[in-house]
Order: sequence, then structure tokens, then C-alpha cells
Amino acid sequence: MATITFLGTGHGGGAPGRFQTSILLHTEGARILLDAGEPCTYSLLSRGFALDDLDAVWITHAHCDHTAGLPMLLQASKLRRRSRALPLGLPAHLVEPLRAWLRASLLPVEHLRFPLEIFTWKAGEPVEFQGASVLPRHTSHLDRYQDELQDKSLEAFSFDIRVEGKRIVYTGDIGGAKDLEPLLAEPVDLLICELAHLSLAELLAVLATAKVGTLCLTHIVEREGLDRAAIRLQCSEKLDQVDSVYLPDDGEQIEL
Ligand SMILES: [Zn+2]
Repeated sequence: MATITFLGTGHGGGAPGRFQTSILLHTEGARILLDAGEPCTYSLLSRGFALDDLDAVWITHAHCDHTAGLPMLLQASKLRRRSRALPLGLPAHLVEPLRAWLRASLLPVEHLRFPLEIFTWKAGEPVEFQGASVLPRHTSHLDRYQDELQDKSLEAFSFDIRVEGKRIVYTGDIGGAKDLEPLLAEPVDLLICELAHLSLAELLAVLATAKVGTLCLTHIVEREGLDRAAIRLQCSEKLDQVDSVYLPDDGEQIEL
């Protein structure tokens, strides 16, 4: 059985009462942090989670609401005397800036005391990890920056995870509803979907024909007069084929 703990469910603009995006995926074989929005270290420790027990960190994209907790997580792991390796999955363009950020924080990778095993995502190339398989998929979330910042390596990913016979899709941040279509071409046991970069109407339309067991909406921007209660109501009224719909708060857990 996999347990998913939503450590932070806010959107990138800063949502009162909510931390930034970070999710702990706890399977039989591994404890993996999906994104490291702040204050993920505080959230893990507050729940009695030992940082040494973290098996990997997988980052979907470089926006700071998904990454700003990462240097603190590494600093705290060092100070708590972690010794075993920590695999860290990153978009390729983030590797050197992260190294520079750590150096600026007086925390060069070589001084961490534990091996930081950085690897980079390539869209469509699965990564096997302790009984789980993750297929990183390109999203269009950062495509416009490729021209604006003249860097074609800028990329955001969704994670298509297979573990314990289940399929978990974590969208990360998408560019629009179109990014969901390939993710929903096959049945999904758990869809963790952001609701900041598409409207509820667009989400409902793309989910109308999808086979989804449990839907968790995070990163919610309340707009068009729709608050969380209204979003929940519309989902329950219009998504008959979805077994369960959650709009988790920080700290909520679901089991799969
Ligand atoms: Zn975000």
C-alpha cells in the first residue's frame, strides 16, 4: 500500500494558511519527496519523519514554489548527520544553478557529508527506483521561457509513476489542459492534479472521458467565483466515473 502525504498544497502566488508544493510518497520500497516547496523540512520533522529515512527527492520543475525548500532540506540532512546517499532527480537546466545556490549558502555539494546523487530527467525515459518506475513527461508549463530566456533546456515535467500495481500521475505544473490528455490516455489510479494553470471547466472537460480512481486537486487558485466548496461540489456532480475527489489540506494523507 502506498501512502501519499500532502505537505504543501498552496499555489505559487502564496496561499494564506498553505505551504508550497511538496508531497511525500511512501511505498513499500521507498519514501520519495515529490517537489520541495518550502517549508518541507519543517513539515517532515513536525510529522516525526526522520530526514535520514528519505530515499529520494524528485523535482518536477525549477519554479521556487517547488524548489525553495531544497537547500534547507540538504542543510538539515547534513546537520543531522545523514551519511547514506540521496538521489536527487532534477530538470537538467537546474543542476548548475542548484550547485551555485548551495555554494552561496556555504553548503557546497562536496561538503554535505553524504553523497548527493544528482540525475536529470529526460522526457519519455523511465527511471527505475526501489520497486517504482517513474516516467517523466514533458509539460508545456515552461515552454514560453525557452524563448524569453533563450534557453531551450528549460523544461517542466509531470511524473507518471507505477508502483505496487498502481498508476499514480502527478502533474507538477502544466501549461494547460492539453498537457493532461496524454497522461489520461490510460486509466489512472491516483491523479494528483494542479488547478492553477487551467480552469475548472477545462479540467472537467478533459476528465469527462478519463478513467481515474482518485482525483486530488492541489495548487488551487480560486477564481471565477469558485471557492473550494464550489469546486468540490462541481467535481462530485460532474465526475460520476471518478471514485473519489479530494481537495487536500496541508498534512492530509491518502492511502492507495
Ligand atoms: Zn507551482
